[in-house]
Parts: sequence; C-alpha cells; structure tokens
Amino acid sequence: MTGALRSAISGGVDPYLPGIGDDGYAVDQYTLDLDYRVAANRLSGSAEISAMALRALPRLRFDLSGLRVSRVRVNGLKARHTQTPHHLTVTPATPIAAGDRVTVQIDYAGSPRSRRSTWGPVGWEELDDGVIVAAQPSGASTWFPCNDHPSDKAHYDIRIVADAGYTVVANGRQVSSRPSGGRRAWHFVQEQPTSTYLATVQIGRYTSTKVDLDGVAGHLVYPPAIAPRVKHDFRELGAMMALYRRLFGEYPFDGYTVVVTADELEIPLEAQGAAIFGANHAAGDDAWNRLIAHELAHQWFGNSVGVSAWEHIWLNEGFACYSEWLWSEDRGGPTVEECARQHYGGLEEQPEDIVIGAPGAADMFDDRVYKRGALTLHALRRLLGDDAFFALLRDWCADNRYGSVGTVDFLHAASAAAGSGRGGAVRELLESWLFATALPAFPRG
Ligand SMILES: [Zn+2]
Repeated sequence: MTGALRSAISGGVDPYLPGIGDDGYAVDQYTLDLDYRVAANRLSGSAEISAMALRALPRLRFDLSGLRVSRVRVNGLKARHTQTPHHLTVTPATPIAAGDRVTVQIDYAGSPRSRRSTWGPVGWEELDDGVIVAAQPSGASTWFPCNDHPSDKAHYDIRIVADAGYTVVANGRQVSSRPSGGRRAWHFVQEQPTSTYLATVQIGRYTSTKVDLDGVAGHLVYPPAIAPRVKHDFRELGAMMALYRRLFGEYPFDGYTVVVTADELEIPLEAQGAAIFGANHAAGDDAWNRLIAHELAHQWFGNSVGVSAWEHIWLNEGFACYSEWLWSEDRGGPTVEECARQHYGGLEEQPEDIVIGAPGAADMFDDRVYKRGALTLHALRRLLGDDAFFALLRDWCADNRYGSVGTVDFLHAASAAAGSGRGGAVRELLESWLFATALPAFPRG
C-alpha cells in the first residue's frame, strides 16, 4: 500500500500507534452480542457499530485482530469486506457522505488472543480458567472490531453468553444475568463515553460482594478461596473514594467494580468503571494499597478525562501517581511532601533523557512519566497554593468530563487558575518539568 493511499484510508491518527485507528469517522455506540466458550476459547457474535462519517468514505476501516468476519452489512445492506491480520476494510454498496450516520453490522468469530505491541502482549488473554482483557493501548481489536484510538469515545451495550459457573464482568451497569439454554446470559450498558482500550470483559469462577463506596455502588469480584484477603486489602476503597470525591469532584461513573483474578498478574490495570488485580495483589498484607488508590484515581484521570493522543499519557499516569501520594497522607502514611522527596531522589539516580510531555512510544509507560508527572503537579501546587491547585483539579475534571485532552489544554487551565500576571510562571514551570530532559530543582513552598 502506498503512503498516500494509507493516509486516504486511515489518516494520521496517532504517531504512537501507526496504522491503528481511523479519523474518518467517529463511533457513537458499540453494540456487542457475543458468545464465549471458556474451555475452547471460542468467541463468536456480532458487533453493531453506529458512527458518523467525518469525511466522504468510500471504505471504512476497523481494527480487528485475528478474528474471522463472515458477514458485513452497512445500513442494512450487504457490503463487501477484506481482512488483513489486524484490519477489516468494508466497502459499502454506496459511498458514505461526510456527515452521514452509518450503522455497520459485523458477524465474526474465532479464538481470541492478545496481539504483540511495543509494550508486550495486549488485549484478550486466557487465564488458567477464564479471561482478562488488558487492552491498553492497542488491544481492543483482539475482541471486537473498533476504531482503536482513545479520543474516539463511544457508548457500549455488551451482551455475552458464557458457560454456567462463570461470572462475567463488562463495563457499566449490569442490566441482567439469567440462565440461557444451560449457560448464562449477561448484559451490561455503559452510558458514559468510553475509550476502546478501557472497554473490558473479565470472566472467571468468581463470587461478587456489594460494597458501599462513600455512596458509590461498589462490587468486589474474586475467587471465593481468597475472600478474606480481598476483603482485607480492599477495605479502604470507601475512604479512598471519599477522599477523591472531595478533592476531584463527583465520581464520574455508575459504579466501581474491582476484579481480582485467581491468576497472578504483573500489574493491576484500570478499565472504565472498573479495575483488575491479580491474586498476588491481594495477599492480605496491604502491600499494594497504593496501587488500589492509583487505579481508582484513573476513573477521573484517564477514564473520564481521557487523552486525545498517547503522547499526553502523563495526564493519566502523573495524576494517578500524585493521587497515590494524596491518599498516603490521608491515611496517615508518608505525607505528599515525603513521597515527593523520596521519588525526586529516585529520579536523580536515573538518566535525565526523557521528555515526559512527549516521551515517545517506547517510553510511554516509563516509570519516570509517572513519578516526574506527579512531581510536576507537586511543583504546580507549590506555585499556585493549595486552594487554587485543588480548584484547578476539580475544574479540570468537571470541564473535561468524558472528553479528551492534551497537555496544552492543561497549560491553559493551569494558567487561568494562576490568575492574572502569573500565566508566564506556570508556562515556565510546566515547560521545565514536561518538555526539558534536565530534572528541575525540587519544588519548595
Ligand atoms: Zn496508571
């Protein structure tokens, strides 16, 4: 394929994920009607994608990895399709005009598995006895055809029939769970706009416990055998929720579900209205307390206020890391100042060769993005003062609720929060922390 043709089909979506995503259309809703057999790892079903064409579309391209498409309809009419390992290209009987609404129905099936990425395998993953989806940043295409870019947020309606004896968790509100021909049918609705990488399915032999999280409906979903450990290590979730609601504003989703798998996982991860931990993260000793806080904070920073491109990842991870420090101080552990000093010391030990405001694809999840990102916020707090800083965080969450943002948006918001005559100081501060490699001096009050 020539470069010109490729850009005609896909546009330049995100330099960190070349060839993934399409800026020719914007999805309103994914309606997924799926059937999954755990032992055989067999997924089949249909996806109905409602979208709006942002330009004339002789073809539509979706990200879809490894799963076989049997039939495609566009606005109810049969459409031609071709597939490559990671793409489905659909040619409607009549071209779609810019501004038109289009509904694409895609029947597909196969044995889903993760896809390789710069950051290791991403997407659908079989567990010993179940499934997790860990899709950040480019793994959503392993289980449904999609426009896999975080800025194209959509609503989700997910139905899954799975084997009896398994619990299924997907995004949003659980509408129903009922027996269906010797198996069980689950239905979930995610009403709030959601990025593809935050769409999820979790399947396992779990039990579920309702918990009140400062007025937000919480669910702990876990293997019954580790119930005491899970209840112990997640007992402070309500207090975390109370702190973050106070500091960041209203919790942005219908509820919060924590899934703890029977398998060990390398790292926990966030999904829309949910987080996934491994059994090793709930050992009953509070060892992962800070990451329980981290994943909850992503509901505001990353999930509700999302990134418009992956280069802005510090807006997710720096804020979630700073939230860990806020929680640490709130629960009587090391103060924010102590956390900041400790991690500043850690950064001093490491090479000063990363620009965290645009770290490059390979270093997107480098620990320095997290720690220096959090220190950026600490420096800004020192400049603005507590009242203006926390007002900025609340306004940031309210003004960009369910939206997609970049660093320049934060620069504007922070400059406005600083008040007249101090915008220059804010710009200078953010530039030195985010866009220079040299580590700025430790921020003092
Ligand atoms: Zn994170």
